[in-house]
Amino acid sequence: MSNLTAEDLLDETMEPEFYLTALDRCDSCQAQAYYLVGFTEGELLFCRHHFLKSESLLREKSFKIIDESSRLYPERELTDHA
Ligand SMILES: [Zn+2]
Repeated sequence: MSNLTAEDLLDETMEPEFYLTALDRCDSCQAQAYYLVGFTEGELLFCRHHFLKSESLLREKSFKIIDESSRLYPERELTDHA
């Protein structure tokens, strides 16, 4: 708690509900991106297909992954597992 600065708090409140928009495109195929993967050298965007294709490698190499793939599916998809 003591590490929080005013700037951190500002960033927190500025956080959009979703990070990725329809304008964000997969770096491999230009489909709409639902994953943002952060590396020390930069960030890459992936569609669901390309993210899943390299998922284990990406999880190993990245330090952050934003997964908004839930937006792809209607709510009933989530209850299928219930
Ligand atoms: Zn793709």
